[in-house]
Amino acid sequence: MSDARRLISDAARALAGRAVDAARTLTRHGEAIDEHQVVVERVAYAATEARVLAELVEAPGALSEVAQVAAAELAASIPYRLAPIAPLLGLSLPGYDAAAAAAIAAGIAPAAVEAVGAAAIASEGRLMWPLDEVLGEVRSNVRAFAEREVVPHAERIHHHDELVPERFISEMAKLGYFGLSVPEAYGGHELGNLAMILTTEELSRASLAAAGSLITRPEILAKAILAGGTEAQKQAWLPRLASGEVMAAISVTEPNVGSDVASVSCRAERVPGGFTITGAKAWCTFAGRADVIAVLARTDPDVSKGARGLTLFIVDKPRFDGHEFAAAQPAGGTLGGKADRTPGYRGMHSFTLSFDKWFVPDAQVVGGEGGIGRGFALQMAGFVAGRLQTGGRACGVTQAAVEHTARYVIERRQFGKPIGDYGLTRYHLGRMASRLTAARAITYAAATAMDGDERAAGPVAAMAKLFACDVAVEVTQLGQLLHGGWGYAEEYPISRYVADAQVLPIFEGVKPILTLKVIGRSVLAAR
Ligand SMILES: Cc1cc2nc3c(=O)[nH]c(=O)nc-3n(C[C@H](O)[C@H](O)[C@H](O)COP(=O)(O)OP(=O)(O)OC[C@H]3O[C@@H](n4cnc5c(N)ncnc54)[C@H](O)[C@@H]3O)c2cc1C
Repeated sequence: MSDARRLISDAARALAGRAVDAARTLTRHGEAIDEHQVVVERVAYAATEARVLAELVEAPGALSEVAQVAAAELAASIPYRLAPIAPLLGLSLPGYDAAAAAAIAAGIAPAAVEAVGAAAIASEGRLMWPLDEVLGEVRSNVRAFAEREVVPHAERIHHHDELVPERFISEMAKLGYFGLSVPEAYGGHELGNLAMILTTEELSRASLAAAGSLITRPEILAKAILAGGTEAQKQAWLPRLASGEVMAAISVTEPNVGSDVASVSCRAERVPGGFTITGAKAWCTFAGRADVIAVLARTDPDVSKGARGLTLFIVDKPRFDGHEFAAAQPAGGTLGGKADRTPGYRGMHSFTLSFDKWFVPDAQVVGGEGGIGRGFALQMAGFVAGRLQTGGRACGVTQAAVEHTARYVIERRQFGKPIGDYGLTRYHLGRMASRLTAARAITYAAATAMDGDERAAGPVAAMAKLFACDVAVEVTQLGQLLHGGWGYAEEYPISRYVADAQVLPIFEGVKPILTLKVIGRSVLAAR
């Protein structure tokens, strides 16, 4: 670990810490978040950057130079982030002492960033995080699989908005990718969350929508069942999710209910032997192909009960492979779905759904009778895992953008030489590489934390999701810029990475809500 990185990190964390303390007082430990939204958003983001900095201090020695640039850049950004709100927090304009300022200036100096960019170009963007033997093998095996099976089809699937090929699912199932964080007792492989993240990352490097995101839904549902399912449900569903026999979709969002999940209005009414579900849902990804949909529905018609009136159901449905489907049950229940067209994230297809008296047996209420009214909490337990996994997805898309851009700047010549020979190109590549390293630092740390106390690791998983998704948007766009006009052409994959990355800050908690209500709340609540 470098002393300069430690110095930078300590100074930046102290700065963010003072803002957090003042914001705790201002918001009465988070009770008054909505009265001070801009303050909370900025403080929560600065706290996230401070956490990334802490993880960068621990980055492996082989990444020393790139981690140094990443740390200096983050530290430099924190005063700008806090400056507009400093007077509201009763703080003077934020800044650093001379020693920290000098270390930061050295880290963000063009020559330092360009050197990192030159190394990124020389390695064609293959910025590998050092791992132990087992995890290294996981990563190289998944990369080989993704290169062989996914990469040759990724562009076609995107251009024609095809459904994920069935072969991807069956091969991934054989390799155990759907059970990486399911306990062995329930048919999983339990290699831990870092193995799951590395797998996700490599699959997403090949294709966010046609491969990397296939793991998200089983992860979310498995974690919800582990958190609150009955023993019989764990035994019935977890092995089938882990083996890929059952593919799941997750349905929380509705046409008029997004971030305000407690207001979900889709109803579940008791009937003999179970419940019927009636209402509309929106943006249910993979709902066509899925065998089951985890549906969050209102079992208590008293809307004043809010989140306490919601229950989580595992809803069976037939498989469909098109952009539109309709299903009917013998007793008269119906379910219709129509995919909404999107510029990226194609392959999974995200559906608007319409349930009408769709029957679900009692056995498929997550948590059984005790699960009635607990759906919100169980869904949120699932989303913690989903957010971590999305940090991995973001790192994979970012890695792909860095690699393609590094190769492009070697091949593309202007004014008589490769554009990668220009200082400004190297500087941009250096920033891309350092941002990716920072995103990995927090995502891998969150994965390790999740192997311990999952509940306690929730805030860092949310920080990983927030930060890595922003990095993916920023780095893919920078990569596109370095491709010039060809970056806007569909035949170059960088345009796919840009389109795909843009969805990352939207789902599993749209960025402003994730920052305010998940990260802000947890950072400010701590005493
Ligand atoms: C491609 C895609 C796939 C998806 N897949 C799924 C899926 O599989 N399952 C699922 O359930 N959902 C899915 N979603 C839905 C996604 O989770 C929601 O879009 C997201 O939660 C935000 O909800 P919303 O779109 O209704 O935005 P809204 O909640 O309407 O928010 C829009 C904006 O309003 C502002 N805002 C809202 N509330 C506040 C507030 N209290 N304070 C300050 N500002 C506020 C914020 O700026 C926010 O960005 C998917 C979405 C997309 C685009």
